[in-house]
Amino acid sequence: MNYSQLFRVNPGIKVKLGDIDPNFTAKHKNQKSALPKLEKYTQKLRELQYLLYAEGKQSLLICLQALDGAGKDGTINHVFWAMNPQGTRVHGFKFPSKEEAEHDFLWRIHRQTPARGEVVIFNRSHYEDVLVVRVHNLVPEDVWSKRYDAINDFEKNLVANGTHILKFFLHISPDEQLRRFRQRLDDPARHWKISESDYSEREFWDQYTKAYEDALSKTSTKHAPWYIIPANYKWFRNLAVSKIVAEALESLNMKFPALRVDINDIKRKYHKALKKEKTEERNRRGKEVRPDKEEKKDTKKKGR
Ligand code: AMP
Ligand code: MG
Repeated sequence: MNYSQLFRVNPGIKVKLGDIDPNFTAKHKNQKSALPKLEKYTQKLRELQYLLYAEGKQSLLICLQALDGAGKDGTINHVFWAMNPQGTRVHGFKFPSKEEAEHDFLWRIHRQTPARGEVVIFNRSHYEDVLVVRVHNLVPEDVWSKRYDAINDFEKNLVANGTHILKFFLHISPDEQLRRFRQRLDDPARHWKISESDYSEREFWDQYTKAYEDALSKTSTKHAPWYIIPANYKWFRNLAVSKIVAEALESLNMKFPALRVDINDIKRKYHKALKKEKTEERNRRGKEVRPDKEEKKDTKKKGR
């Protein structure tokens, strides 16, 4: 199934999250049936990220957005672990610091965008500035409402400079969110994840839904598309994200960089070095063997 086509928000479409089933798992009935595919795509991600890094010409920016408990951290853990830390970076955006808040909202974002050859995963992103900021009136409407255009221009500029952008909204239902909050309560290893705001933010579910619908509708462009991933089943979420990212990387037609050396000359140097190493090794062994021989002669004489 073409998840990329199925989950992509086509530019100009008015998104209604209520029409999208967060329980969707395509043809897969359970995790077991999805696992071989997930392994295949994570392996692909590994190979393609290596190629992106080696080629050093283009970069990839992945934005993860979702409500609390929807699995941003889990997606990073279970999908992007496959990538080599050399050339991959995760950046989480929190409530802006004093210094960040004293600049325009894209200032802190631009500093974290990927360099050529790099993959950067944003755990939350510039979209918080039209989501949490809008829901809690952190700036007036005439300020946040202009940010959609600013975001589209910003992303267009990144794309023009060789950055590919994929944006994922992880879509869960309110009852699934509560189930995951419960898991956090039940598991001491997850207690650190619990925050008061999980419950206070949940009260704003409808306002967040509206803010997400607007952001997804206004900022899904041909160059920087949004994907709405059904995420009630963590294993399906992982499968869908890994497949979409792997296929996007594959479409970049990346190549290992052209040789910057004369390979025949290097081969000659290698064989010369090998010959020298073998000769030296033989000489070293010869020296090591001699005292042994002496010793053997001695022991023969002594009749042992
Ligand atoms: P977490 O991702 O759970 O570590 O939480 C980070 C918190 O920072 C969330 O409550 C976000 O809504 C908040 N946050 C991130 N970016 C912004 C922003 N630009 N303005 C206000 N709050 C933000
Ligand atoms: Mg959180």
